[in-house]
Amino acid sequence: MYQLGSRSLANLKGVHPRLVQVVQLAITLSAQDFTVLEGVRSLAAQKANVAKGASQTMDSKHLVQGDGYGHAVDLAAWVNGKVAWDPWERYDVIADAMRRAAIQLGVQIRWGGGWFNLNQLASPAQILAARQAYTADRKRAGRKAFLDGPHFELQAVAR
Ligand SMILES: [Zn+2]
Repeated sequence: MYQLGSRSLANLKGVHPRLVQVVQLAITLSAQDFTVLEGVRSLAAQKANVAKGASQTMDSKHLVQGDGYGHAVDLAAWVNGKVAWDPWERYDVIADAMRRAAIQLGVQIRWGGGWFNLNQLASPAQILAARQAYTADRKRAGRKAFLDGPHFELQAVAR
């Protein structure tokens, strides 16, 4: 069973407590170790990300939201003491751990690896299918798929 390191815990500072709980449970469920690369992002850092194309919006959930917390985290696969971006399947495994943790805790989580809600899905196969459906939809619309496998955010819920 994996656990979060001190850098991961530090990077969760300022992140919404419900999202922190999901990440903390997910690491114990995940077959793939991961590290928290980023939680709360400053306005200046987000502007820089948009400028270099690493992010597409100034409406990022990494920025401090109205309730005073960041609503997004970036989780990177951790292999032999460093971040591993490939293969993509590592991120499907992390997403499945986040899915199970989110369902257990009743926290709605949206994944950047296809921009869908994880709580509606029942299995890793359904995560894969949802990701492929997103990519196919974008392609049909003549747009590039923007897949952000490390990114997880609180799903905004209507109140
Ligand atoms: Zn992110």
